[in-house]
Amino acid sequence: MASEKKAASRASAAKASTNGKVVAAEPTFYETVESNFERAAACVDYPRGLLDQIKVCNSVYMVRFPVRIGNDIQVFTGWRVQHSHHRLPTKGGIRYADHVSEDEVMALAALMTYKCAIVDVPFGGAKGGIKFNPKNYTEEQIERITRRYTMELIRRNCIGPAVDVPAPDYGTGPREMAWIADTYQAVSTGQIDSLACVTGKPLTQGGINGRTQATGRGLYFGVREALSTVEDAKLFGLTPGLDGKRVIVQGLGNVGYWAAKNLQQGGAVIVGIAEYEGGIFDRNGLDVDEVFNHRKSTGSILNFKNAKNYKNGNALLEVECDILVPAALENQINASNAANIKTRMIAEGANGPVSAGAEQILLKRGIHIIPDAYLNAGGVTVSYFEWLKNLSHVRFGRLGKRADESSYTRIVAAVESLTGKSFSELERKVLVHGADEADYVDSGLEETMIEAYRQVKYAYHSNRKVKDLRTASFVVAIDKVAKSYMELGIFP
Ligand code: GLU
Repeated sequence: MASEKKAASRASAAKASTNGKVVAAEPTFYETVESNFERAAACVDYPRGLLDQIKVCNSVYMVRFPVRIGNDIQVFTGWRVQHSHHRLPTKGGIRYADHVSEDEVMALAALMTYKCAIVDVPFGGAKGGIKFNPKNYTEEQIERITRRYTMELIRRNCIGPAVDVPAPDYGTGPREMAWIADTYQAVSTGQIDSLACVTGKPLTQGGINGRTQATGRGLYFGVREALSTVEDAKLFGLTPGLDGKRVIVQGLGNVGYWAAKNLQQGGAVIVGIAEYEGGIFDRNGLDVDEVFNHRKSTGSILNFKNAKNYKNGNALLEVECDILVPAALENQINASNAANIKTRMIAEGANGPVSAGAEQILLKRGIHIIPDAYLNAGGVTVSYFEWLKNLSHVRFGRLGKRADESSYTRIVAAVESLTGKSFSELERKVLVHGADEADYVDSGLEETMIEAYRQVKYAYHSNRKVKDLRTASFVVAIDKVAKSYMELGIFP
């Protein structure tokens, strides 16, 4: 509770005066994560010391390093925060953006711990970032910055298959992960597992099928599960099933694109898509791939056929829909717009898109949120599969696929001879297909998202103090991390 008071006093001290009006400052991202933690901490029965140990960031590294840019040297600031060492390695993405700060990286690292615990991925949470906008740099410069940052991590023992394993996040992707892996491997000769030092790599560099789509696909599985029965859907004031549900998505980056595409394939109607240059709306539905290609060829999401333009993309967040998917950055739904949101369900694709203050306003208005720590955990789940693949040095399905196909072929032949009928070529192909890597990854992701939702739902319904799904998900996470500390015998 002490830290809650501290956070509150910091927030009120930060009250600013604009045009003579006093406006309450929003809590910082880290304060929002802390206050979400405290809401759940009040619902469980663990010693305060144990809760504090779970809550704090175990180590916060800041690095400043020089990189030659053109004819000059530029000094960059980066961070790597390891939030919890209760499980090793620690795990979490690396973000490149102008707004990266220590507060943000700490918040994201903490979320990673809870995320991994909720989906039973055996890692502690971590996050990294470099404060710069990659759009202002050439590919070669970004490579130099990435490799130098990796060297800084190596020097501090902040990267390695058993220590801390980065992944993509906002502003980074498979390309950056390949540079990180290459830099690490160059200085770790003889380490047989060195490729497992980073996940989200390109397929040809030890990556795994399905990692790119994983976060958006996991979101789809989560939303589908949340609407799977009449009882479940009632929480959101919706009918069960995705069919015909009107969806607005903020962000057409990796998470938003794959979330929108999967929701559309699942029967939902994507009525609005917002990006930083503006938003588009069509109540008859937007085809996600067509919008994606339109943006790629014209440089903007605006002026898509039959769609209404919104010069201010954020105004789309306030348009009526059934499911709102903020899949861009943190703090998009805040005190300034929470009262105007007209959706039934908020499905958090981004990390921290709803501020703590906004959440209270939304809950009072009966709008429930499927929280980030559960809903966007598909990314780290498939990262876990990639790490396992790298450690086992074999692709999933390599040993069993053909053996399974032989058995299925024999079964199909037996059915044909018993019935005297024969299957078409296409039917036969589908029936005898043995699972390959993509099938295993998808199956593991689906199972993970369904099982984790059931755990969150159980915490929501079984603990009378829990009033919302975010608190329920934090209760699940705290329980698991607390038990792992207690098993160590550190706490009584
Ligand atoms: N950056 C992603 C996240 O926030 C993925 C992390 C990972 O795969 O380690 O969940």
